[in-house]
Amino acid sequence: MTDRLSLKAAISAALLASLAGCSATTETTEIVPGWQPDTTYNVTILHTNDNHGRFWHNRHGEYGMAARKTLIDKLRAEAEADGAAVLLLSGGDINTGVPESDLQDAEPDFKGMTMIGYDAMALGNHEFDNSLDVLEKQMNWADFPMLSANIYDKATGERKYQAYEIFEKNGLRIAVMGLTTEDTAKIGNPEFIGELEFRDPKEEAKKLIAELEKTENPDIIIAATHMGHYEDGQRGINAPGDVALARYLNEGSLDMIVGGHSQEPVCMEGPNVASKTFKPGDECKPDNQNGTYIVQAHEWGKYVGKADFEFRNGELNLVSYDLIPVNLKKKIKVNGEKKRVFIQNEIPKDKGIYDFLKPYQEKGQDQLNVKIAETNDKLEGDRNVVRFQQTNLGRMIAAAHKERAKADFSVMNSGGVRDSIEAGDVTYKDVLTVQPFGNMLTYTDMSGSEVLDYLNVVATKPVDSGAYAQFYGISMVVDGDSVSDVKVGGEALDPNKTYRFTVPSYNAAGGDGYPKITDHPGNVNTGFVDAEVLKDFLEKNTPIDVNKYAPNGEMVYK
Ligand SMILES: [Zn+2]
Repeated sequence: MTDRLSLKAAISAALLASLAGCSATTETTEIVPGWQPDTTYNVTILHTNDNHGRFWHNRHGEYGMAARKTLIDKLRAEAEADGAAVLLLSGGDINTGVPESDLQDAEPDFKGMTMIGYDAMALGNHEFDNSLDVLEKQMNWADFPMLSANIYDKATGERKYQAYEIFEKNGLRIAVMGLTTEDTAKIGNPEFIGELEFRDPKEEAKKLIAELEKTENPDIIIAATHMGHYEDGQRGINAPGDVALARYLNEGSLDMIVGGHSQEPVCMEGPNVASKTFKPGDECKPDNQNGTYIVQAHEWGKYVGKADFEFRNGELNLVSYDLIPVNLKKKIKVNGEKKRVFIQNEIPKDKGIYDFLKPYQEKGQDQLNVKIAETNDKLEGDRNVVRFQQTNLGRMIAAAHKERAKADFSVMNSGGVRDSIEAGDVTYKDVLTVQPFGNMLTYTDMSGSEVLDYLNVVATKPVDSGAYAQFYGISMVVDGDSVSDVKVGGEALDPNKTYRFTVPSYNAAGGDGYPKITDHPGNVNTGFVDAEVLKDFLEKNTPIDVNKYAPNGEMVYK
């Protein structure tokens, strides 16, 4: 239960007192609540989060925006028939994860959300995977606000994005604010977010709530957040999440958190104990911390969350909560064979949005499923290999960069290699699975002595980290925290000669703890996207003989 009544009464009294001193006015109407005493108002909050490019159903027919719309239309109609005020919110991270969406800058996702009728969303960290002008474009595709109160423009010191929105429903004033994880600064592409400051969302929320109470007189305050839900606030190395936020605020000053980022169903077994056994179709009890309800609907539109509240005399009480699966399936055995069946009755796809999205899906597929090359064996990019040793795929990507930039050698972070390519036909989809981030190719001209300093940092990054580097066109001995016997193109590194090398834009900007070289006078961002460079290289060099890229003792680790 959350209690806004005493606070409300205090504010009303204060406002009346201050107004009593004025000679005016019609302004007094503003402080009269829109709700009637001793009257119950129904409020229904529908929510999703972490869409990650899943505008289309998967190959098993699970989730997808067309079925999501049918379900949400039904839930909204039912709630409104009950006289409820309804809001549909998202906890953010609409971007990144499915090539068909990524390739189209998530246009189908944002336009689909508009058709479904989202009222607002939080900006997630993955909204910053692309350059900021892509986000601007997405804000135009969306006819709902994309909120964040804690992202500031470093240059102006002002909030960069809309912080909150007020919804007036059935006489209730509902404020929805957005908050974004501080980790965005760490995990986002430094090249795109360098001009932004991600301030402590807890402090910003406290400040904004005080501000709202003064200026907007809201009856209900909800935060759409992208910060993660961590059981009992146990967040490990993550930035503080929703539990920490609720505990930090004055008790009950925030009514509800519609979250995202940790990509889980927030269903509790008891106070501070999350359910370990929740499965689709089960009952779900949301978290409550310090008078604030916390909800999250797993990821990808697998569920629509539905919270039914009653608002009466300034108090908001949760009456029921449900996480409703969107055409999720389970595997059962039929005559000894495994089959996938719907867990609940199939939700039909909404025809309007299905027909609207289909051309996007087809366009994406057309571009992705075309064979672009073939390879005579596996190109190794498995995480537990490529982060530990030089591999043919890591080296081939570096070779592609070296060729495109006409460089002397190339450095490729293994964290930017996300999958292997199997022997046989290769499609653009395979390439995008290996390189989904859209980093750009940069090159830098440096003296041999500068190169040596750079390598002393980059080549000595530990294994089992994304920072561990793959190399092409260069050989060296790595011993502890320094390198020796460096040869470029088979010749000893000359401290006075100028060399050109490539590194992904992510690392050039300082990602993975690499030296920041974007302000080095010799640094150039080519604007070429990594996956496109790899695709082009594969097309030009097919059929690929993996032996050409196999490591051959170039890197010696002592
Ligand atoms: Zn996230």
